[in-house]
Amino acid sequence: MRIIGSRFSPEAHCLRDFANRNGIPYRWLDLETDEEAEFLLRQFNVPASATPIVMDSEGTWYSNPSLGDIGACMGMVSRMDEGEVHDLVVVGAGPAGLAAAVYAASEGLEVLAAESLAPGGQAGTSTLIDNYLGFPAGISGAELTRDALIQAQKFGARVTVPCTVRSLGIEGGERIATLTDGTRLRARCVLIATGVTYRKLDVPNFSDFENAGIYYVATEREAQLCRGEEVVVVGGGNSAGQAIVHLAKYARRVHVVIRKDDLGGNMSRYLVDRVEGLENVVVHRGCAVSGLEGARHLQAVRVRNGATGLQTLQTSSLFLFIGADAKTDWLRGCVELDRKGFVLTGPDLPPGIADTDHWRSIGRAPFLLETSLPGVFAAGDVRSASVKRCASAVGEGAMAVSFVHAHIARPA
Ligand SMILES: Cc1cc2nc3c(=O)[nH]c(=O)nc-3n(C[C@H](O)[C@H](O)[C@H](O)COP(=O)(O)OP(=O)(O)OC[C@H]3O[C@@H](n4cnc5c(N)ncnc54)[C@H](O)[C@@H]3O)c2cc1C
Repeated sequence: MRIIGSRFSPEAHCLRDFANRNGIPYRWLDLETDEEAEFLLRQFNVPASATPIVMDSEGTWYSNPSLGDIGACMGMVSRMDEGEVHDLVVVGAGPAGLAAAVYAASEGLEVLAAESLAPGGQAGTSTLIDNYLGFPAGISGAELTRDALIQAQKFGARVTVPCTVRSLGIEGGERIATLTDGTRLRARCVLIATGVTYRKLDVPNFSDFENAGIYYVATEREAQLCRGEEVVVVGGGNSAGQAIVHLAKYARRVHVVIRKDDLGGNMSRYLVDRVEGLENVVVHRGCAVSGLEGARHLQAVRVRNGATGLQTLQTSSLFLFIGADAKTDWLRGCVELDRKGFVLTGPDLPPGIADTDHWRSIGRAPFLLETSLPGVFAAGDVRSASVKRCASAVGEGAMAVSFVHAHIARPA
């Protein structure tokens, strides 16, 4: 497969990201520099305006294709049997979903995992996960994902990519997960493991610097990279506070950009005191990032303050702690969500849930990881009040499988 486009095109970036993360072999031909790109476009009569394109070995090309189109082009998309009733449909194949697939399949359940982008989820994008039990030297997200996927498939789980679930419901005692192409998957149980997306900055060239100077975590590894340098942290919550304290041990100076005039607005007092006691931390209050600069890698961050105007901070590392949103738009009206859109489970469900028709008909209260719909579970970052960590997601995914067994053993 060949991907032809401009290296400056976000759509081309998206296609390459999909291919990279799914281990699809391809050749990248850059319109800006590669003569072969122009030659091929002329040979196959492709107008430059149609790029980026994906071209298969036969020369059939797709203009700015959807991920589903590439999946089809690569033979990745398998036909779903709408007549089959799965023991477990897992929505999302990040650490929580993959763990559930491994445990469910290894314990004899028939399991299908639907993943919209690439197995591994957020963890798959991490260059080094260094707090995962059993890996003292850390493990890359790509490696962890690859091994987990092999393990799930070894036990017979099916992991389908790209495959997005757009709605969920119960019909006649079966759970129905409907895909974006309208296919209806029937299941005895469903696990929601769709994770979160970290919020990004609303600046024009943001995507140019993703994976090129922008970070969402500040572990030992990122901190070491910043040794002796100036770094910028955006956000004023506790996760920002912890990151600032950690980064300040290595960086020459830590610039903290907050919208409010006071650090204490969203940060615990003990962290505020620690941050304010650090000599190499400068807090830019009442500010917002208005632009990013750099060639291939981030080189500077523009910060705007209503009163004092624009300031440019020279840095190659920008840490964002501006929150994360649950990927649950597709679940509104299907299961109970908390105020921020995370899925409520077990004891966190509204009181009196056990008195509703669904629950009365099966004669029990929701299990710990069960949502407001019987037989529908949630695990990992998408679950309300969960610990947003790789190990916790894996643990919850594994734990959910024991509830799946219990639900299937005691049907309505
Ligand atoms: C860069 C980075 C580094 C990190 N480093 C660490 C670390 O060092 N240590 C640590 O403990 N944690 C780390 N984390 C956090 C950790 O990765 C997450 O806590 C963990 O991945 C959560 O797993 P999850 O399975 O709940 O969700 P996710 O990993 O978010 O996976 C959810 C999956 O669901 C898919 N999906 C979403 N909606 C749908 C849908 N409708 N249909 C089908 N599929 C869907 C998504 O494409 C995604 O693949 C890091 C996160 C990031 C972003």
